[in-house]
Amino acid sequence: MKSYRKELTFKTKTRRAYLNITPQVEAALAESGVKEGLCLVNAMNITASVFINDNESGLHRDFESWLEKLAPEKPHSQYAHNGYEDNADAHLKRTIMGRECVVAITNGRLDFGTWEQIFYAEFDGMREKRVLVKIIGE
Ligand code: ZN
Repeated sequence: MKSYRKELTFKTKTRRAYLNITPQVEAALAESGVKEGLCLVNAMNITASVFINDNESGLHRDFESWLEKLAPEKPHSQYAHNGYEDNADAHLKRTIMGRECVVAITNGRLDFGTWEQIFYAEFDGMREKRVLVKIIGE
């Protein structure tokens, strides 16, 4: 069995952002040489998410407004976590949107459903954060 590991690094210009990272994951898969197996992609930070959904900008604005209703960033004082930090909302948003995704690899390609793409969601950005890509298979 082959095993491949790669870290991707992101530093967004804004506190929150949604990035389509499918091309970087496909590049990692090509480097791995794996044709049949599994590809795990996970955020390595507790205020960012990796999830799969549609690459449609209206939907991304809908995620943003929905998450702001569930866990509004401000006022920072509404959260017990925000003593020395101001990112409690980012922890909550990350929990809702998830830590990772797993995609099957078939014939050397990510075996997506219709319109599926992999996204990195940043909820406390403007600093460097890592995403792990782990690929196993033959
Ligand atoms: Zn925190």
